[in-house]
Amino acid sequence: MEKSMASLIMIFGATGDLAKRKLFPSLYRLFEKGRLTKQFAVIGVARRSLSNEEFQQSVKDSVLTALKKDENIDEFISHFSYHSHDVADSNSYAALKNLADQIDDHYSLKGNRIFYLAMAPEFFGPIALHLKSDGLTDVKGYKRLVIEKPFGHDLESAKELNKQIRTAFSESEVYRIDHYLGKEMVRNIEVIRFANAIFEPLWNNRYISNIQITSSETLGVEERGRYYESSGALRDMLQNHMMQMVALLAMEPPIKLTTDEIRSEKVRVFRALRTVEGEQVKDYFVRGQYGEGTIEDEQVPKYRDEPMVEKDSNTETFVAGKIMIDNFRWAGVPFYIRTGKRMTRKSTKIVVQFKDIPMNLYYQTEKMLNPNLLVIHIQPEEGITLHLNAKKAGGHLDAQEVKLSFANTGIHAMNTPEGYEKLLYDCMRGDATNFTHWDEVAYSWNFVDKISEVWQKTKAADSFPNYQSGTMGPKAADELLEKDGYFWWPVTDLEVDMCK
Ligand code: NAP
Repeated sequence: MEKSMASLIMIFGATGDLAKRKLFPSLYRLFEKGRLTKQFAVIGVARRSLSNEEFQQSVKDSVLTALKKDENIDEFISHFSYHSHDVADSNSYAALKNLADQIDDHYSLKGNRIFYLAMAPEFFGPIALHLKSDGLTDVKGYKRLVIEKPFGHDLESAKELNKQIRTAFSESEVYRIDHYLGKEMVRNIEVIRFANAIFEPLWNNRYISNIQITSSETLGVEERGRYYESSGALRDMLQNHMMQMVALLAMEPPIKLTTDEIRSEKVRVFRALRTVEGEQVKDYFVRGQYGEGTIEDEQVPKYRDEPMVEKDSNTETFVAGKIMIDNFRWAGVPFYIRTGKRMTRKSTKIVVQFKDIPMNLYYQTEKMLNPNLLVIHIQPEEGITLHLNAKKAGGHLDAQEVKLSFANTGIHAMNTPEGYEKLLYDCMRGDATNFTHWDEVAYSWNFVDKISEVWQKTKAADSFPNYQSGTMGPKAADELLEKDGYFWWPVTDLEVDMCK
């Protein structure tokens, strides 16, 4: 890993939402913590015409808005320059190269370059090709490409995109962002699993009955209607974020905690995924689209009434599924996943449900014992809760459920860095562990494509909308578990008071 952090970061799409809300504040936090030395510079690239001063002011504004502080901000923004450039215009890359070379000299950046593509995905391939043909990647130091999701919209388009970017960057120079891999508690999955003697021995089909991953949002599609219509929940959430969490939960312990070893264990999980295709899709996956409803006392419209959405849209805003991993460790253990918009709560949680003990000696006022659960709270609260049974005070042989909680938002995490901050820092250090390797992308598209092929052929349009806004999705998502003898652990019941 790199010792020198000197680098020139070129942000393509520097006037966009992602740059303003996430990238500039994250860079500022790194600067504040001394993780960016004086040897760093940023070139913002977008079409609109802005002076350097106007651009620096917009960086300052976004830091203030996001973090409500501005200590040493003038020094920070002095490292930022702006270049007005249409990425589709082949003639303007030469000027960008000149500017990059000058800034490289000025700050002694040793030819280290990070190209961050915070732009619409159709530009990813053409930009990568130009960076090479116009000599921007021809540097003495390292060159890295950071690329936002979506990485293609199916396996074929992902292969095509990969081919284009690989003409300019090797696989080890490509940093495919999955911002869930920047989240503190997603990174914690490995530690919880591999650093605790009490979990790893039980982490298999002998002791775990099922694993549930819920990632629910209360927001609707907002202004992203055009993009979302061609994506839907399956491609937007399941192919990347949900599948990554499945891989981290299911992988074998790596031999070492190196990028290659961890990635190769994740790939082995993807290779063991049971293919779901054709007629089987309806037995394993459920799709939904939100109707109108009430969220936090506010009446909200149905998906089909959102801007830039077709009146008879077939796009799913919710997906639930049962994923089976056919290997020795996981044979027979369903991984249930669900994700959607306009649901009851904004929440991402993993529930690991352990099998019942062989014989119950204790009763909870005539009820059977509660199963042991390990709940990993990913967001908004961060922490873990272990659900155990303990004696009820004063009772005879009565047991009751007790919850042991660790809140990551407590003293240990006063300064929990934002996901993008960690990912940017990893990229500067040359640590690609928490970025997705091409093999992971390819396997997960292969899995998802088989489902979307069926959904495109058999339109659900007549039955959409099939869940009311403010609920946890369509009834069929509950039935998916009921037929296996399980139920979704209610997100609201799992919430614990994670002290701040
Ligand atoms: P956005 O707000 O629409 O910003 C797009 C940026 O691209 C703007 O700076 C725009 O500036 C620039 N641009 C557009 N066409 C251009 C061209 N031909 N040449 C040069 N610059 C051009 O998009 P965003 O929300 O920031 O998203 C960027 C990427 O991040 C997308 O791939 C998205 O899927 C991904 N992403 C975003 C978020 C998020 O929170 N926003 C989260 C996850 C992933 P000009 O109009 O001035 O050219």
